Amino acid sequence: MSNCLFCRIIAGEIPSTKVYEDDTVLAFRDIAPQAPTHILVIPKAHISGVSAITGENSHIVAHIFEVIPQIAAAEGLSQGFRVVSNCGDHAGQTVHHLHFHILGGQQLSLQMA
Ligand code: 5GP
Ligand code: ZN
Repeated sequence: MSNCLFCRIIAGEIPSTKVYEDDTVLAFRDIAPQAPTHILVIPKAHISGVSAITGENSHIVAHIFEVIPQIAAAEGLSQGFRVVSNCGDHAGQTVHHLHFHILGGQQLSLQMA
């Protein structure tokens, strides 16, 4: 997906501050952090969002959720963190490549909407 921002970050065409990488997952710092720690965890395969998770690709999502606690531990988020994925227009998804926000480093608001 040459016109996808996160595919271009994976390809190295757009720089990012990487915090984790393996064969299937990349994690990097959000360019506009909403908390002291704000990391995006994405699959290297282009999946448009949570609505596009299927039995065919859910193993990638499972792997992402294995990696998330490792990143949180490496970032020192021992007091907790939040994992968020916005899906679709009503949720405010702006990049249509599946991503999970890791937010932490301070007491987070409980506001849901
Ligand atoms: P969404 O709004 O789709 O849930 O999340 C997209 C996120 O990507 C936003 O938090 C936004 O700040 C982040 N973002 C957008 N463009 C870039 C970029 O070029 N580099 C990085 N590191 N983050 C980006
Ligand atoms: Zn993509």
